[in-house]
Amino acid sequence: MVESDPVLGGAVSTVERWPGVRVDRGSSAHVIIRHSGIVEELELERFGLRYVDCDPWGFAPAPVPGDDGPDGRPLVFSVDLDATCTSIAAACGDADAAAYRRFVEVWGPRSAAVVQAFGDRPSPARLARHLWPIGSRRPRTPGGEIAVDFLGSGDALLDRWFSSERLKAALAWFGAQSGPPMSEPGTAAMVGWVALLHDVPPGHPVGGSGGLTQALAARLAADGGRVTLGDGAARLLVDGPADARRVTGVQTTSGRRVTAPVVVAACHVLATKALAGDDAPPALADADPPLGNGFGLVLRAQTNALPSYPGVGDEALQGLQLLCTDRAQLARAHGDWLAGEVPREPVPLTMSFSASDPTLAPAGQHVVTVWGQWYPYALADGSDWETLAEPAAQQLIAAVDRYAPGFANSVQRLYVQTPLRLEQELSLLRGNVMHVEMSLASMFGFRPTPALSGHRVPGLAGLYLTGASTHPGGGVSGNSGRTAARVVLADRRPAARLRAEVGRRLRARRR
Ligand SMILES: Cc1cc2nc3c(=O)[nH]c(=O)nc-3n(C[C@H](O)[C@H](O)[C@H](O)COP(=O)(O)OP(=O)(O)OC[C@H]3O[C@@H](n4cnc5c(N)ncnc54)[C@H](O)[C@@H]3O)c2cc1C
Repeated sequence: MVESDPVLGGAVSTVERWPGVRVDRGSSAHVIIRHSGIVEELELERFGLRYVDCDPWGFAPAPVPGDDGPDGRPLVFSVDLDATCTSIAAACGDADAAAYRRFVEVWGPRSAAVVQAFGDRPSPARLARHLWPIGSRRPRTPGGEIAVDFLGSGDALLDRWFSSERLKAALAWFGAQSGPPMSEPGTAAMVGWVALLHDVPPGHPVGGSGGLTQALAARLAADGGRVTLGDGAARLLVDGPADARRVTGVQTTSGRRVTAPVVVAACHVLATKALAGDDAPPALADADPPLGNGFGLVLRAQTNALPSYPGVGDEALQGLQLLCTDRAQLARAHGDWLAGEVPREPVPLTMSFSASDPTLAPAGQHVVTVWGQWYPYALADGSDWETLAEPAAQQLIAAVDRYAPGFANSVQRLYVQTPLRLEQELSLLRGNVMHVEMSLASMFGFRPTPALSGHRVPGLAGLYLTGASTHPGGGVSGNSGRTAARVVLADRRPAARLRAEVGRRLRARRR
């Protein structure tokens, strides 16, 4: 494996940002991979991976004084469904607590089917095989209703199920983590995913997010593989006649030639296109998936205290602190982003995993990540991120401080990742942490483009695509890597090779 970055793991990595302080460079909360079975399949615990469960996995504060709010109690989402419903009942009333219980019952199996679809190739037949059983469960739900649910927006789903705006806001903010706002069609399943968190919650690896990629590298080494850091692919090596072009390896930036019968490109699909250069067949050369205009801005803070939410114990600090009390806040932030502006009232999601992992910071110190979503990469008025980074960071800190008074004063050191910085640091084009937009038209068999959605590159044998650019998209998942590996292995079976060769000869004869 060749990696261009001197740090292993891309957006799943952790560095010692300040003496004794371990800070993630990208992701922090691992959600999807924990439902994929990959950690168990690769026995990653044996290779050093240890997860701390986020339980409670979510917390949403009461509206701050001055805002309208039905009740001053926070919402706490625990793995324990009873405890969660008790919290919802206290903050939002019994009817919403009962509705939430039913919601989890209905969406648990649906989201489990989505997990299955995420772990497989996105062909129509395979999708149907995974999603079909949803409607046949008893009591049966008409297919039309299921289609409305899945194709509809997260907001519409929330409005159908719940009455409390606070509850809807917390769930919508969770659902929006993949990027699209919950007003967009096809986002309902992103809200429905919460049902699974009452089974397996998000987790964070001990020592930081990079614990996962370190364990993967250790597993690879045990299997005889080798990772070279800081010497990535500079171009693909391609050989063969015009009608049977095939990849034979890569040349790295240092000029090293690594030959291989198969190359699996796990970088951004547009980086792969550049690596192929003039050898890119039309399917790759024409690929132009939507990258969007920036995604989020992240603050990594070393603090001398954990965020403290009035009236709430330390349990709020275990998981995702969803600092949103009304979906109008999300709509405003997203609206500003659409207009190419920094959100005037940013909505934070805060994580403080040093509360449960003392290896992250020296005693008395903490690492707090503040994620603000919908920050444009290119600003409409032409301003540059060098100038905007500091005021935008202070604005986001102030937004946390509204809910956790004293947070601003606790910040000792700050590292700001603007959309531009994310591109420079992690090669995430246009700062898109998911590589390609996660809207309905870029998911499943459309990701990254319909022609490239099978992990193969038609017209260039031996080249395979994986990573967030491919199905099922971004987020710490592992699914696309496993599926690509299965596709490679299937193609390398003698029968498949024979079929491919016969097909090639027939095409040549027809020409
Ligand atoms: C700030 C941030 C916060 C996030 N938070 C979360 C979260 O809490 N939970 C979650 O689930 N997801 C989160 N994500 C998203 C998630 O981390 C990514 O979607 C996921 O890591 C993508 O993984 P990947 O391996 O497909 O791609 P990447 O992580 O982008 O890795 C691609 C790798 O390819 C390398 N590369 C590029 N070009 C070359 C080349 N020519 N030769 C060799 N190597 C090359 C890059 O250096 C990089 O290491 C976050 C991402 C970011 C940036």
